[in-house]
Amino acid sequence: MKNVLFIIAIIAALLTFSCCVPVQEQTKEERAPVRNFISVHDIPSYLNATSIALGEEEIPPNDLSRAIRFFYAMWIDKYGDEDEKLLTNLNFLTVISSDEMMEVSSGAFWVDGSPIVEKTRVVGLTWSPTRIWIWIDPSHKISDTSLIHELIHVALWSANGTTGDIDHEGDKEVYWTDEHTMFIEIANLVLKNNDQ
Ligand SMILES: [Zn+2]
Repeated sequence: MKNVLFIIAIIAALLTFSCCVPVQEQTKEERAPVRNFISVHDIPSYLNATSIALGEEEIPPNDLSRAIRFFYAMWIDKYGDEDEKLLTNLNFLTVISSDEMMEVSSGAFWVDGSPIVEKTRVVGLTWSPTRIWIWIDPSHKISDTSLIHELIHVALWSANGTTGDIDHEGDKEVYWTDEHTMFIEIANLVLKNNDQ
């Protein structure tokens, strides 16, 4: 009985303290809602692939994974993947996304190969065979983003080892053909039909 009373006394003491700790007066800034502006997630099914979302919008990592797997299946069906170079890079891919477009004024090319010569807003960039950026379209559909376009740069870069073919169908680099442009159309159509 003595023990029971002792335990009750301890619980009562704990409750007293835990319910009575005063909350310090908060400043206006502290009371403001907290939002996450950078989200970092693994992309499922890939060893070390990462999704980094800048801003409040994010493509769900599972959807991103599904779209990349679909792209890879379609790519190897058409072009193969010698020594699994593409698959290796996809396993270490970083997909950065944001709900704001970027501006470039030089060093980039339209799909037909003509250079961008004045300040232009772009919706996607490929920095390396393992790092891409895409703008999240307000529709939130992956098929409305440049994901497939950037993955083609990744695939070409993986295969030839030195370039993702920056000028697309232009003559500066030779890897991107009109077939690849068509590939994007078909892949995005399939994704759209699957509500992605
Ligand atoms: Zn491109």
